[in-house]
Amino acid sequence: MNLRISRKLRETMSYATEQRKLILDYFIGKTDESVTALEIAEALSSFVSKSAIYRNLALMEKEGEIVRVQKGKDRAVAYRYAASGKCAGKIHISCLRCGKTEHVSAEAAAPFERALKEKDGFSLSRGECLLYGVCKDCAGGGK
Ligand SMILES: [Zn+2]
Ligand SMILES: [Zn+2]
Repeated sequence: MNLRISRKLRETMSYATEQRKLILDYFIGKTDESVTALEIAEALSSFVSKSAIYRNLALMEKEGEIVRVQKGKDRAVAYRYAASGKCAGKIHISCLRCGKTEHVSAEAAAPFERALKEKDGFSLSRGECLLYGVCKDCAGGGK
C-alpha cells in the first residue's frame, strides 16, 4: 500500500466532497428556486471551478438530489433541489418567466389527482411532478 498515493487520494476525495457540499448548501438555501449552472458558478466562483460545478450537477441529478427544470423565457436549463423533506409528496409548479417554484395547494392537488385516477386510470407520483406556467406576479402587472 503506497501511503503517499492513498493520502493524495484522500485529499482529492475530501476536496471533491467539500465542493459538493458547497453546491448542496447553495441549493438548500434556495429550496424551491430554480438556479442555473451559471448562477451557481457565479455565487461560488471563489470556491468551486466551473467545470467542477457542471460535474457535480450531473452527478447530483443522477442521484436524484436535484432535478433539471427550465427557467425563463429562453427555457434555460436550471436545477432545483429535490431532496428537501418539505417537498416530499408535493406537486411543484414553476413559473416560466421568473423561475419561481411553489407547491400546488392540497385543495388543488387532491381533485386533480382524483380525476386523473377516475377518468384516466392514472396514479400520479406527486413528488415527481412539475407543472410549468406563469405565476400570478408575472401574469399581473404586465409592465
Ligand atoms: Zn418544493
Ligand atoms: Zn413568475
